Amino acid sequence: MPIKLAIPKETARGERRVALDPSVAARFAQTGIEVLLQKGAGNEAHFPDEAYTEARVVEDAKALLGEADIVVKVAPPTVEEVNQMKDGALMAGFFHAHIHTDVVQALQKKKITAFAMELIPRISRAQSMDALSSQAAVGGYKAALMGADLSCRFFPMLTTAAGTIRPAKVVVIGAGVAGLQAIATARRLGALVEAYDVRSATREQVESLGARFIDLGVQAEGEGGYARELTDEEKAQQQEALAQHVAQADVLITTAAVPGRQAPVLIPQKMVSGMKPGAVIIDLAAESGGNCELTKPGKTVTRGGVTIHGPENVASQVALHASEMYAKNLFNFLTPMLPEGRLKLNWDDEVIAQSCLTHEGAIRHEATRSLIEGAKS
Ligand code: NAD
Repeated sequence: MPIKLAIPKETARGERRVALDPSVAARFAQTGIEVLLQKGAGNEAHFPDEAYTEARVVEDAKALLGEADIVVKVAPPTVEEVNQMKDGALMAGFFHAHIHTDVVQALQKKKITAFAMELIPRISRAQSMDALSSQAAVGGYKAALMGADLSCRFFPMLTTAAGTIRPAKVVVIGAGVAGLQAIATARRLGALVEAYDVRSATREQVESLGARFIDLGVQAEGEGGYARELTDEEKAQQQEALAQHVAQADVLITTAAVPGRQAPVLIPQKMVSGMKPGAVIIDLAAESGGNCELTKPGKTVTRGGVTIHGPENVASQVALHASEMYAKNLFNFLTPMLPEGRLKLNWDDEVIAQSCLTHEGAIRHEATRSLIEGAKS
């Protein structure tokens, strides 16, 4: 009997992506796997059921999940969805286990082998599986467009019969995957871009995109290429110098994050008061608390003529391409586990070992285990 892989319809509020697009679903089918699609699963991303030529369409989630050996998802599952799965089945997707501890316990009870896409180590070999990066790139691109859309100014320099218009000034804070894509997109639209990150390694990347690197004299390289949290003294130094650049910005895009923590608040109310009337802040860190003190996640607020936009799940707004990229990440991650259409887990492979959240009733991810066991004791 071939392994059955299921693509359910996403149920999270506002989620428009689907875990596999038709072309990647077909590639799975070519490896000897039977692909099952919940009716309408791809609709929100504009992939109709008929486009999944290699998949068998199943009417509802309960029947689909009850039949599947492997379930692929984008947003974390609900407890109900986990309970509808077959005991011992495999699931891959985002889990955000520190928020959804009830789901982790349901996965444990059902002995599900759960692989969290956000836990895949960011090593060169796993770049093609890196869904954090693919979705962050989508977010960065869209953030620049949101900034251009909400701004009362043009991004490019325009020479017209009605006069010459100077290009907009865009400041990007946090030059990780999302920040770099925001810089590239704002540059393509013709804006003058300045960017800042605590990791000095980003200077070269920022400059290679034609933007100016803001040097505030604070560096905070942490482990594994990520940033570390700043000391109070460093934060004060950073804010004072940053305020001068922020005051000049027409659009400010903030993307600063520290893994496993709330986003750092880099733009206090006072800094917003110093901004130009009509300026726009796009806070891509809104979901993890926001980089701006005034950000309201999921909302657009105005203070002293400055618009502060805190979008959530931005990748879902570019649902078609975000789904295609995510599907490729899933394919590159799962197919090495499925030689000749049979499941074979090699726990010596660090990509498999580190991304596994639960297996055979145990929580294999240490931080999640301590969190859940700590809460019980
Ligand atoms: P992220 O989303 O965790 O953070 C975004 C950016 O915010 C980072 O560049 C971080 O340095 C910056 N930041 C944090 N605190 C800040 C502060 N107080 N002020 C200003 N900036 C601040 O980052 P990410 O986009 O996920 O990337 C993190 C790292 O992982 C980068 O080094 C990136 O190159 C690396 N990476 C490696 C791979 C790979 O090798 N497979 C893939 C993707 C990313």
